[in-house]
Amino acid sequence: MTVRVRFAPSPTGYLHIGAARTALFNWLYARKEGGKFLLRVEDTDLQRSTDESTRSILEGLAWLGISDYDEEIVFQSQSADKHREAAARLVREGKAYRDFTPKGERADSNVKQEIAERARAQSEGSGTDHRANPYRDLPPEESERRAAAGEPYAVRLKVSPEGRTSFADAVYGEQTRDHSEIEDLVLLRSGDLSPLYNLSVVVDDIEMGITHVIRGQDHLTNTHKQILIYEALGARVPVFAHLPLILAPNKAKLSKRKHGEVVSLTTYRDRGFIPAAFRNYLALLGWSPGEENKELMSLEELKSLFSLEGVHRSNAVFNFSDSDPRQWTDQKALWMNAEYVRTMPLEELLPMARGELESAGLWRPEYGAERADWLGRTVELIRQRFITLKDFTGQGRAYFSDEFELDPAAVAKNLKKDAALGELLPALAERVEAVEPWNVETAEHALRAFAEERGVKAGLLINASRTALTGQAVGPSMFDVFEVVGRERSAARLRSAAQFV
Ligand code: GLU
Repeated sequence: MTVRVRFAPSPTGYLHIGAARTALFNWLYARKEGGKFLLRVEDTDLQRSTDESTRSILEGLAWLGISDYDEEIVFQSQSADKHREAAARLVREGKAYRDFTPKGERADSNVKQEIAERARAQSEGSGTDHRANPYRDLPPEESERRAAAGEPYAVRLKVSPEGRTSFADAVYGEQTRDHSEIEDLVLLRSGDLSPLYNLSVVVDDIEMGITHVIRGQDHLTNTHKQILIYEALGARVPVFAHLPLILAPNKAKLSKRKHGEVVSLTTYRDRGFIPAAFRNYLALLGWSPGEENKELMSLEELKSLFSLEGVHRSNAVFNFSDSDPRQWTDQKALWMNAEYVRTMPLEELLPMARGELESAGLWRPEYGAERADWLGRTVELIRQRFITLKDFTGQGRAYFSDEFELDPAAVAKNLKKDAALGELLPALAERVEAVEPWNVETAEHALRAFAEERGVKAGLLINASRTALTGQAVGPSMFDVFEVVGRERSAARLRSAAQFV
């Protein structure tokens, strides 16, 4: 049997990182098993679904590198007739019935039912009769006649009062629910006969030949109802695998309304994450590769190690802080990205650095031509401490532009430290200008000789030079920095930094 899985987002907003994780797990499972990965856009809520949201979901999946769907994208709204037909069939077969309760009363009785259900949940055991619907056993001819006469009705599944549904969730294990806890669920709404979620999902999953339903844990309880629909339709029930939730540090559900941009996938693209790094990070949100206990994994490794058995039951926590900009998102995500920036093949990083420079207006044609070697050398040098691609134009800006700001803390620490620097820096600049050839060794030699002549510590000049040349207090080895910044630019910056002393 070929594995067939689907990711089924509702296009009612941005792509939530939890949904992106669901998509990724489906994709990994399909690729691991040599199966098919399908996308179904669940756009049945016409009021809330937007094309823009669909576009942003597709963009997000493409950015993550998992948009190689194996079949045409399915739009659920286009199958409404099929969903209605399935419900009609169940009515014909006596497995569902038309409920002619007028709308107002229904709303009312639903509220009552809910209250009763809650009361039942509280006082375990005292059953509510979910089957007390006067239309449940209406003779078929009368039901037909009233429908034909134009009387509005909803369609409900006839859930047997006895028995239970159970299934073995591939993550959460055996799940059982007594039928007495499940109402005769509505399949089609009264009036326009629009299909409800549980019906649409099941009919589409059958139609698409889905073998494994991998989705968020918030759907675990729906599954019992869906299994009843599968059974009524006489279809094979797929394997279900529910994924743990992703929670905020205070254990609340992670939502855009409460937590803002940090939950939206495109935020990571826009803030300079590397797709492979974020994918790697997402893979570990609720899954681990068993004994290997590895964290940095290439796509090939993820594909070969992924398994549903490795999915955790406990919810994942997304650790970030609203008040500290350095912890704007989960610490592990930042760490993972920094590891990728630092260790990925340079030839893969360069186009990303270029994109970043281009969007900041700092790219120059010569970087792609006669200064390509310089660019490679510079990126190699500065990437060691970077966290995101934004650092190429943030803390790394001085390598690519003469217009950069000096970090006030660095100025205080390295330039204002010793008044003598006001005279030392221009003198060092003059010395630098005379060095020939200019490279790591000659720069070091010049600086150390100058320090000795002046009777000052080389460290004083090294630290001051770092802030003068890069605007920062920390960075790569200073003599490397001298080389890549170049002799003339170094001298000019040493001179102009004297004004801050
Ligand atoms: N559209 C549903 C959601 O976004 C999908 C549920 C499912 O995967 O069955 O939650």
